[in-house]
Amino acid sequence: MKFLSLFPRIIDGCHSQIDTKLVPLLVPAIQLDHISRYYTMGASSVRAVDDLSLVIAQNEFLALLGSSGSGKSTLLNLIGGLDRPTSGSIVSNGQNIATLSSLDLARYRRNTVGMIFQSFNLLTRMTLEENVELPLRLAEVDRAERSGRVGEALERVRLTHRLGHHPAELSGGEQQRVAIARALVNRPKILLADEPTGNLDSTTGEAILTLLQEQTKYGMTIVMVTHERPLAEKFADRLAIMGDGKLLSTSAAKGLAQ
Ligand code: ADP
Ligand code: MG
Repeated sequence: MKFLSLFPRIIDGCHSQIDTKLVPLLVPAIQLDHISRYYTMGASSVRAVDDLSLVIAQNEFLALLGSSGSGKSTLLNLIGGLDRPTSGSIVSNGQNIATLSSLDLARYRRNTVGMIFQSFNLLTRMTLEENVELPLRLAEVDRAERSGRVGEALERVRLTHRLGHHPAELSGGEQQRVAIARALVNRPKILLADEPTGNLDSTTGEAILTLLQEQTKYGMTIVMVTHERPLAEKFADRLAIMGDGKLLSTSAAKGLAQ
């Protein structure tokens, strides 16, 4: 139990959001320790993420809010291993991803995290089923196992019909469901969502967040960037507010809007 020695720190970091659901499961999924990401452009430097520390517990649903340009997407990309910090460490699922080799980082992206985006990012020429299967092909999962795994992921998003349809034949909400299934198909531990309801009407957005929230039952940790504070308050466990690359505050969320 290598996490045991970290417990006092974790509990301290989450003191505002301890509830009965989290107490027995309070192990860290993601530990951000003084991370920064600077972009240098000519003589000037943009501090997109600026000395930010945060612990996200396993099974937690964290919503990341803040004005445009405050560094939310940069932070999410760092956690997802799409980008590396200029300094600081990111311990995710037990390994410091800031120091992984490119090959190991690619493996981390493939096996440990799933990502969804505002624009769904489905491949338009592929069917729904082929889109969801793609990560399994990239991970070289046996053909014999793939269809069962695709079925399992589609069941999680309640979209087991219309398997042969193409993205253009689906509604926005259905397309985001496919994108969620594609993110889940490799059975990741962490789900990262960058404004997943940004292109959806409010009823569809709530349905998508209900689905995301359900995934924490399967042990998933979720970090979601959103502009929509009421939705974050209704569905997330905790809100983290960013400003100018820094973490301004965190607070318990669930139920505040109900
Ligand atoms: P948010 O998602 O909160 O809107 P971002 O993380 O996209 O914010 O951006 C944070 C800051 O970093 C902004 O000032 C943005 O212009 C800058 N930035 C983001 N990506 C890059 C990049 N690839 N090169 C240079 N600057 C960038
Ligand atoms: Mg963004």
